[in-house]
Amino acid sequence: MSEASVRDHKILLTEDEMPTRWYNVLRDLPTPPPPVLHPGTGQPVGPEDLAPLFPMDLIAQEVSSEQYVDIPDEVLDVYRLWRPSPLYRAHRLERALDTPARIYYKYEGVSPAGSHKPNTAVPQAYYNKIAGIKKLATETGAGQWGTALAFACSQFGLECEVWQVRASYDQKPYRRIMIETFGGTVHPSPSDLTNAGRAILAEHPDSTGSLGIAISEAVEVAAGDPTTNYALGSVLNHVLMHQTIIGEEALLQLAKVGEQADLLVGCTGGGSNFGGLMFPFLREKWAGRMSPTVRAVEPAACPSLTQGRYAYDFGDTAGMTPLIKMHTLGHDFVPDPIHAGGLRYHGMSPLISHLYEEGEIEAVAKPQSECFKAGVLFARSEGIVPAPEPTHALAAAVEEALRCKESGEEKVILTALCGHGHLDLAAYGDYLAGSIVDSDWGDAEHQAALAAALDKLPAFA
Ligand SMILES: *Cc1c(COP(=O)(O)O)cnc(C)c1O
Repeated sequence: MSEASVRDHKILLTEDEMPTRWYNVLRDLPTPPPPVLHPGTGQPVGPEDLAPLFPMDLIAQEVSSEQYVDIPDEVLDVYRLWRPSPLYRAHRLERALDTPARIYYKYEGVSPAGSHKPNTAVPQAYYNKIAGIKKLATETGAGQWGTALAFACSQFGLECEVWQVRASYDQKPYRRIMIETFGGTVHPSPSDLTNAGRAILAEHPDSTGSLGIAISEAVEVAAGDPTTNYALGSVLNHVLMHQTIIGEEALLQLAKVGEQADLLVGCTGGGSNFGGLMFPFLREKWAGRMSPTVRAVEPAACPSLTQGRYAYDFGDTAGMTPLIKMHTLGHDFVPDPIHAGGLRYHGMSPLISHLYEEGEIEAVAKPQSECFKAGVLFARSEGIVPAPEPTHALAAAVEEALRCKESGEEKVILTALCGHGHLDLAAYGDYLAGSIVDSDWGDAEHQAALAAALDKLPAFA
């Protein structure tokens, strides 16, 4: 590689070049995904079932058959605080790996929360505001979603109440302080403020919580108060649609340098940053304009795509949400406390699950030590400390780049660097001290938990 080529390290769009509509993949899917079911009746849920939790604009987006949805001006205005986000060519990482592959990363760490989450938090707050809602209740694991929603609520004058998984509430005080700085209120979950929380505490007084439990608490509060709605940071169709601004920008940016991606890799927790980058590329693939391989990377400790069942399951632990057909490890499965808190969810977006079933995307699972190794290599070469979640995608990108080194192939690899790790330095500290433990899904205890959880579901599921 010539030294001169390092000059196109950063590929930027102007504010005027920022896309002004989201892409709705639902419209272009080769086959439609199975409907979301009411747990009591087994019938598909209608808008009225969701109305206690979500504003009508978001319910409409959840089932929209429009190919594109215009982004409201008020939302574009907030997006412009950090968007368009940069696309980088990872010249220095390529050099460190001595690979002929060309590696690009789309960096979402420039947002106010330091991750991709504000891309959906902002429109969710906006649509709730114009529907007359006063407060949003939500859950957060490591704290990224709570931070993003608190920021978005502060932009539109809404209150924000967050149930944070107890383990991270205790271990990661900086995320809580950031949520509070943006004006949000934070409770550790399980809490004694809800029936769901009290039931868990009665059985397990020392519960360290899970995303599923925290969702139950926030949903319960929203369902019981007509001026409070619920907001989810991943999994749902409208969330993934809001994230497609990432992929739409990346398409324009790669076109600017005349590149076509051969491989797209992203990390999957609930699937939103992955879907956000991938869906616009899949649209181009289905239209015959490109043919990238699309690969999801999940943690070996919580491998919903590669090891879970494709079944109807609840989105939360208490079983208060509708039943969703998705790849799941069982709604009462509590993953080991790996550092990538954002990837510790028992289920996977129904859209991503469906695309995986249809063979449109691939999936691999990675142990966290391999991911941190790639994260440290990335930090030392590119100068950005990645959040633990996207180190999973980086590990897969590094693996592919080393394969290219063997074969001499000049593949173009694009990955989503969906957040920075500045509030996850304790995890890097553990890795550098050699105290990272790889927990594996594959033992009998986990398998039994999955089988037991799924066998408890209603018969029609
Ligand atoms: C929340 C989060 C994730 C996981 O959520 P997805 O919906 O799968 O994107 C991954 N990375 C970061 C930085 C996050 O904040």
